[in-house]
Amino acid sequence: MKMASSITIPRRLPLLLVTDNVLLPGSSMRIPVRSIRNMNMIKSRLLGRNTLSSTVIGVIPKQQKAELDDEEVTSLHPIGTAAVVVQITGTNWPRPAYTLLVTGLCRFKVDKLLQESPYPVATVTQLDKLVADDKVYDTSDEELNSLAENFREQAAKLVEMLDVSIPVVAKLKRMLESLPSQHLPDVCAAIVKSSYNEKLQVLDAIDLTERFNKALPLLMRQIEGLKLLQKARKDGKVEIITRRESNRPINMRQAFRKLNTPNLQDEDDGEIEDLDEIVDMEQKIKASKMSEEAHKAAMKELKRLKKMPQHMPEHAMIRNYLELMVELPWSKGTKDALDIVQARKDMDVDHYGLDKLKKRVLEYLAVRQLKNTLKGPILCFVGAPGVGKTSLGKSIANTLGREFHRIALGGVCDQSDIRGHRKTYIGSMPGRIIQGLKTVGVNNPVFLFDEIDKLSRGVHGDPAAALLEVLDPEQNHSFVDHYLNVPFDLSQVLFIATANNMATIPAALLDRMEVIQIPGYTVEEKIHIALRHLIPKQLEEHGLSEEKLQIPEDTVKIIVTNYTREAGVRKLERRLAAICRAVAVRVAEGISKSRHEKLEASEGDKKEILNDSLTDIDSHTASTLAHPPEMPIVIDDAALEDILGPAMYEPESKERLQQPGVAVGLAWTAMGGEIMFVEASRVENTEREGKLTLTGQLGDVMKESANLALNWVRAHSKQLSLNLTGDLLNNTDIHIHFPAGAVGKDGPSAGVTITTVLVSLFSGRCVRSDTAMTGEITLRGLVLPVGGIKDKVLAAHRAGINRIILPKRNEKDLHEIPDNIRKDMCFIFATKLADVLNSAFEDGFPALSAQVLTESKL
Ligand code: ADP
Repeated sequence: MKMASSITIPRRLPLLLVTDNVLLPGSSMRIPVRSIRNMNMIKSRLLGRNTLSSTVIGVIPKQQKAELDDEEVTSLHPIGTAAVVVQITGTNWPRPAYTLLVTGLCRFKVDKLLQESPYPVATVTQLDKLVADDKVYDTSDEELNSLAENFREQAAKLVEMLDVSIPVVAKLKRMLESLPSQHLPDVCAAIVKSSYNEKLQVLDAIDLTERFNKALPLLMRQIEGLKLLQKARKDGKVEIITRRESNRPINMRQAFRKLNTPNLQDEDDGEIEDLDEIVDMEQKIKASKMSEEAHKAAMKELKRLKKMPQHMPEHAMIRNYLELMVELPWSKGTKDALDIVQARKDMDVDHYGLDKLKKRVLEYLAVRQLKNTLKGPILCFVGAPGVGKTSLGKSIANTLGREFHRIALGGVCDQSDIRGHRKTYIGSMPGRIIQGLKTVGVNNPVFLFDEIDKLSRGVHGDPAAALLEVLDPEQNHSFVDHYLNVPFDLSQVLFIATANNMATIPAALLDRMEVIQIPGYTVEEKIHIALRHLIPKQLEEHGLSEEKLQIPEDTVKIIVTNYTREAGVRKLERRLAAICRAVAVRVAEGISKSRHEKLEASEGDKKEILNDSLTDIDSHTASTLAHPPEMPIVIDDAALEDILGPAMYEPESKERLQQPGVAVGLAWTAMGGEIMFVEASRVENTEREGKLTLTGQLGDVMKESANLALNWVRAHSKQLSLNLTGDLLNNTDIHIHFPAGAVGKDGPSAGVTITTVLVSLFSGRCVRSDTAMTGEITLRGLVLPVGGIKDKVLAAHRAGINRIILPKRNEKDLHEIPDNIRKDMCFIFATKLADVLNSAFEDGFPALSAQVLTESKL
């Protein structure tokens, strides 16, 4: 595209307001005309004129705001693009609807709005020069020259990465080669994927250097996105496709059903509709191959049904019962297809990391296969929410080629939830086990008892006791549901359980299960999981693909660190879903817009305006430019903030530890590890004896730890050089608080933290801000080991703390921590409180250590 030599645009321009889009000089765009003002402008300025060649209009971007009237002109953007209309397509009937194809010429500034209706007209000042000279900008400006050169290189790179066989791309390539450098930022910013605000910033950049600087990051981001796409195309995804297409027996069930029950299918189709209901049922009972006992019971009920008049409520009850009986998979099952090598591969495809766990599951499956029985302990995955417990269960079912059914036990407090209600009650139902079997339609599914630790005991019997029977291989071959009232063989079902917290699993159940702990993930693991699993999954769920959306690794890292703080990946997945939704809206808008345009172009009469006096842009070039090639939208940190809002979590430890009386403890909860800022303060009190106040919903064990800590500090105040006259509690109240105040806490592991906080408070020295600690204490100042070390260390790492004081006897637990995390961290192992204090404060407590050393020798 060549610009004709030196042109000036008219001083007065009719304005076209374009919602949520920015026309940049040198680019073309199709603009649907919707608002009344725009329609008025077109009618009076463009339509019905024979010589339109000199009509220049001003295109002003405008952001759609829900609260503003669409017709509002008051807040006009001060800068716009003068443009020529190259083509008008549209129709007058049933109501006028037009789309303009416009090409931007140059920027202008709005000086004064002359009129608002019927359409806005303003006096303007032209900002860019419209000349064909390549060297308009000041070539003596070194910086600008190198910027322009770099930009041209990058632009060439971008076009290189696109498929040149597409005509649009070929045209773009030729155009970019011949275009003077000063036009590049506008043209490139118009074709890459960018948001309204980003384009607006390019439009507003009147200074050429600034314009290059604004457009370059957009260009680079797009190149990055295309690189990621090329990489994704080359590797990775192929693996998943082969898995999906491999010969896994995923559709076993349907195949099996077809083989097994052709008659039933036909009957369901209603071919023998006219047959008597009773006869029909009798046939179904025969076809269902139920156990002898069940058969007897069913026939008995059938006899009762025969005698019973239809209007009696019991008639319906018996019918329901018999229908359930014939639908249950008495002898229908899938065939196990366990291939250990393939199973390992399948599990790797579905889940990242978790090596120890996968190994254990494979061993479990291998033993089951060799022994050809399911007797033995039930697997129970214990871990924080979102670490993949449920999906691992699903993955096991897939590997085995079995059906999968999840039974949520959270909040179940009634035995009949598991075992059903007797059918004598109106509205009685079978329990979850039998319902599950009916749903899956086979007698050997994988049943996942989710959240087995959330079972509670109600007034109607203990559901745990019923589960016990279900899970016991000695008993479950003849499980009797109260509703069914005949035994059903559950011995072929593979049971798996999940829990957040081992401590609340009923003891008798825990005894039956083999617990496998799934600790939380590190930041690196989460990034891998997001890139390899969660993003592809979310893209698919939102009807997107990598061609449309790219989320680079750096962005994922920001999401992990600034928008989530959890052991698992559930929130991370939700954030990614939010991004996909936001992008899906944009993609869908694009699709509907182009459909709309096509429709209008084909239906309406076409009016073409060739505008040779201003430029030599023909409508073909313009419409090519109006449809830039497909490129992925790339999410960078700015886009992230647009979609997810400001960062939710930021490292905070540094500021909070800038005063004495605060230390970071490490806690373990059912949600994984957490860091906890323990605070203490003292208040003068001359009236009565000083006392210790503890807040933050503490359990008894924790309160006792606090008393232990206080007494130890009292006893050692001299060695600690606390400079007190008399006792610590003389005329002083002490208050220790454990945030978050609303969450209940218990356990002995805060002992060392409380001691450190007290020493810090009374010595007036700050605890090191890079240090966190955990450990139980004794009255004599020994440090004892505690649990949940991996979760605690990961939590500290997530929070950016890299120095941890641990009980010496917990040293052995460190092998669970991934090497890369261990490398980042500095561990200090303590056997005595003196060791803890020595490491927790900048200069330590040398006097104290010497003292304790002699004490222990004595
Ligand atoms: P839980 O049952 O432990 O609460 P889920 O099984 O529901 O967690 O997992 C939440 C999501 O995280 C699922 O979409 C799952 O696929 C994904 N996920 C968890 N861990 C992994 C992993 N290691 N690799 C891949 N995806 C994972």
